[in-house]
Amino acid sequence: MSDLLRDTFGRPLASLRISVTDRCNMRCRYCMPEDDYVWLPRESILTFEEIARLVGVFAGLGVHKVRLTGGEPLLRHDLPTLVEMIARNARIGDLALTTNGVLLAKHAAALRAAGLQRATVSLDTLRPERMLAFAKSARHADVLEGIVAAQRAGFARLKLNAVVIRGFNDDELADLIEFARVHDAEVRFIEYMDVGGATRWSMEQVVPQREMLEVLARRYGAIEPIAADGRAPAERFRLADGTTFGIIASTTAPFCRACDRSRLTADGTWLLCLYARSGVDLRERLRTGATDAELAALLRETWQHRADRGAEERLAVRDRGALYAIAALRADPHREMHTRGG
Ligand code: SAM
Ligand code: SF4
Ligand code: SF4
Repeated sequence: MSDLLRDTFGRPLASLRISVTDRCNMRCRYCMPEDDYVWLPRESILTFEEIARLVGVFAGLGVHKVRLTGGEPLLRHDLPTLVEMIARNARIGDLALTTNGVLLAKHAAALRAAGLQRATVSLDTLRPERMLAFAKSARHADVLEGIVAAQRAGFARLKLNAVVIRGFNDDELADLIEFARVHDAEVRFIEYMDVGGATRWSMEQVVPQREMLEVLARRYGAIEPIAADGRAPAERFRLADGTTFGIIASTTAPFCRACDRSRLTADGTWLLCLYARSGVDLRERLRTGATDAELAALLRETWQHRADRGAEERLAVRDRGALYAIAALRADPHREMHTRGG
């Protein structure tokens, strides 16, 4: 094994998802279904300088992929400036953004110019009335405009994320594949996950990867799996005409064994797993004068002890329901999906 920093399962520290805000301009039922939320205090939110400094420390330990997320990352004022600061770090070879797309048309060109390489836009439905009912947003047309603007701005490999929910959008799989094809993008269907925030989750609403493939095979014929490498199960598939798409089986067939991701919340809490109950407060260390070497030592020590495999552990839970009731989320908003970033 190389001298890369590795956790207890030999997984390297390679990818960091940074939530730049816990705020959002949508209210997707699988993420923010409640009427009101406890927000992170404004003064606790990391500055761009603090984020860029942490990225530098993480990069020194092996992180080479960074994804900006949220909440809705484009609600963070002047995001291209942060992109530019991170893009200056030569060790970060892959800099991406996940957005709901509502504000993307306005910012796509500036983000690309600042050094953002890739963008993923969440698009669960092609029907505006469904988005209004499901995410309380009437801005479907803006999302579509954002997708066109992202293509125009020249992002590599534009991806469209669709969380598939039985009885909501499970009849749109082929329509989304066709839409992605026309827009020169790749759609990735995501199984509905019982993460914090998904307080209305139930197994009945999850459409398993196997079922999605059956539905699509009936429409398109044979579907060929594209194996990324020998160790992981295929996440990408190819239709007979060459069109590709992805399915993230994060609920029915998670693959924690290959997980090199960790997450930084907007207030500087470092989480080792999407399902982690708590994290490490890096903001406190930053603001009380820790040196880069001290921060690196803390990250190293923490990662070496990482044994998280949250989604795999959830498979063993009988009568599985929502991970947290709303009271537990209000008691610690760090458990919310919109706080830790998807
Ligand atoms: N607001 C941005 C967006 O929606 O793209 C970025 C943050 S959002 C938390 C990141 C991703 O997490 C989105 O693609 C969203 O669909 C996904 N997500 C949120 N809740 C989920 C759930 N319960 N199960 C599966 N995916 C979920
Ligand atoms: Fe929807 Fe993303 Fe906002 Fe969550 S953070 S409510 S997934 S747009
Ligand atoms: Fe990684 Fe945790 Fe997700 Fe498993 S559940 S893939 S360990 S973030």
